[in-house]
Amino acid sequence: MKETLDLSRHPCFNAAVKGSYGRVHLPVAARCNIRCNYCNRKYDCVDESRPGVTSALLSPTLACRYLERVLEREPRIAVAGIAGPGDPFAEPGKTLQVMRSLRERFPRLLLCLSTNGLGIGDHLDGIVKIGISHVTITVNAVDPGVGMKIYSWVRDGKVIYRGLKGAQLLLERQLNAIEGLKRRGVTVKVNTIVVPSINDGHVEAVARRMGELGVDVLNCMPMHPNKDTPFEHIAEPGREMIEEIRATAGKYLPQMRHCARCRADAVGLLGEDRGEGARESLTECAG
Ligand code: SF4
Ligand code: SF4
Repeated sequence: MKETLDLSRHPCFNAAVKGSYGRVHLPVAARCNIRCNYCNRKYDCVDESRPGVTSALLSPTLACRYLERVLEREPRIAVAGIAGPGDPFAEPGKTLQVMRSLRERFPRLLLCLSTNGLGIGDHLDGIVKIGISHVTITVNAVDPGVGMKIYSWVRDGKVIYRGLKGAQLLLERQLNAIEGLKRRGVTVKVNTIVVPSINDGHVEAVARRMGELGVDVLNCMPMHPNKDTPFEHIAEPGREMIEEIRATAGKYLPQMRHCARCRADAVGLLGEDRGEGARESLTECAG
């Protein structure tokens, strides 16, 4: 008989368990299919903690071996996910292959994916079939006029869209994906990156729309101004701004307030980037 997984053990979706259960990010997604104006994945900063950063990349075949080693050291890991350093659906075949192997090898682990939503739409049935229970989609705008200020380009197959067209396509795919995931019973979190002067006044509209779609939780994350990006000169939003935004957004859906802005190779409890020996295991497995 198929075992029912306890979904409440995901520490990002349930703050009450963040001290008891951890997560591991498997850095297998190297490429991305869009360009956000705050993103820079070029820096492999060993001690820097932010999304998009990893010490090494894993091939699909080595992901399971790495996870075995991680679980030997840290049995509190309840969730394995792919959250970069690029987007899991820039190369969906690779991502789903990893997820399938994890499901076979580790039937009790919760599986999780974090994506910009552009390429996930064709894979919703596959996600459910594998048993991926949690998906995060980053939605920074529900108005393409705002979105076009955030995304330099959006690539669909071999075609690159810029400006309003790119932002429209991305938004359309995101909304369809969220609606389809919720219809299939998947738990959905939306991350919204708050960029002062660009979308800070627009987050309420995002929250309203996400609430209408039945999104489970909204994570308003302050933008980190990364070097060599179009947004490098925009200051990181302060705590006060984020708290005000969360209070307003909280009228529409629950808010995540314990996000640790993890690296793409984070391991352990939230707030821990890498447990003891994890970096060594990763670089050894990555070869
Ligand atoms: Fe970077 Fe993620 Fe945006 Fe891709 S979707 S450009 S990896 S922040
Ligand atoms: Fe959870 Fe936030 Fe870390 Fe993602 S970045 S694993 S949502 S704490």
